[in-house]
Amino acid sequence: MKHKTLAFIAANLLWLSQAQAASAPVGIVIHGGAGTISRDSMTPAQQKAYESTLKHAVDQGYEVLAQGGSSLDAVSAAVVILEDSPLFNAGKGAVYTYDGTHELDAAIMRGDNRAAGAVAGVKTVKNPIKLARAVMEHSEHVLLTGAGAEQFAKVQQLELVDNSYFDTEFRYQALQKALKALTKTPHQANLRLSPLFPLEWNVGTVGAVAIDKNGLLSAATSTGGMTAKRFGRVGDAPLIGAGTFADNHSCAVSATGHGEFFIRYQVAGDICARVRYQGKKAAVAADEVMQELKEVGGLGGVIVVDQKGALSWHLNTEGMYRAKREQGKDAEIAIFKD
Ligand code: ASP
Repeated sequence: MKHKTLAFIAANLLWLSQAQAASAPVGIVIHGGAGTISRDSMTPAQQKAYESTLKHAVDQGYEVLAQGGSSLDAVSAAVVILEDSPLFNAGKGAVYTYDGTHELDAAIMRGDNRAAGAVAGVKTVKNPIKLARAVMEHSEHVLLTGAGAEQFAKVQQLELVDNSYFDTEFRYQALQKALKALTKTPHQANLRLSPLFPLEWNVGTVGAVAIDKNGLLSAATSTGGMTAKRFGRVGDAPLIGAGTFADNHSCAVSATGHGEFFIRYQVAGDICARVRYQGKKAAVAADEVMQELKEVGGLGGVIVVDQKGALSWHLNTEGMYRAKREQGKDAEIAIFKD
């Protein structure tokens, strides 16, 4: 008898938690990089182009959620659109390395079992975020790099392209400016606390965070890194806890900015840790972390979703390409700080 009562209570509790999870509001936030993005530095046509690509990406991601799809599929769909656009420093349009090539980094993470996949320094994979997801779902590893990661992409039958596919004139000009600056100073790796180049030469890393109807939080980030990077430099984007993090107990975060700071200050993980262990609201934790980062010279921004579906963005730069869409609402798109 006692057994039956316990089983009855357990069944009801399970039903209740499933019903609660099923009613979680869905939502998605995306970014297309943070940095010196001012109104005077953009023509109205450029602004429109950014806004319409951001809208397309956030709407596609939202559509996945609205159809009952997972947040993992939603962030992947949004990031693929941004990778395919030449406007952003990810996939097509990635910045150039010192040697005049492109080396791409990406990561994806899910917040229920904290599975994650990431790649660094890949040169021929059209959509690095798809490779990161394949690492998560079809390997026992978290992070694959360079030639090995590309071999894995072949095994996974992902689309490969010539490195020149990622070329754009705008990024090529940024490299020329960087190389000129480098004749006066040694290489980027020697610089300690300030970025050698203005952030606008790199701006355009992309990312997405989302929550689906089952309450699953996911995060994804993809980037070409920093202009004129050398010596196999890897940024924060593919490092779990630095530029990308998701944990259903707290929040999901995707970051953009001066990667060395985001790595050293474990920005994405720190925001979620403050939520989980200090009981702070995700938006409060993210504001704190970005303010503290600014105080030590780290510039950039983050997008955040918490386990209740609150969506937010936080930047300590002049601008960040960004968009969000809450359940039942239209997309909200922004570029400049205010
Ligand atoms: N965080 C990227 C990196 O350091 C660059 C960026 O987001 O602008 O590789």
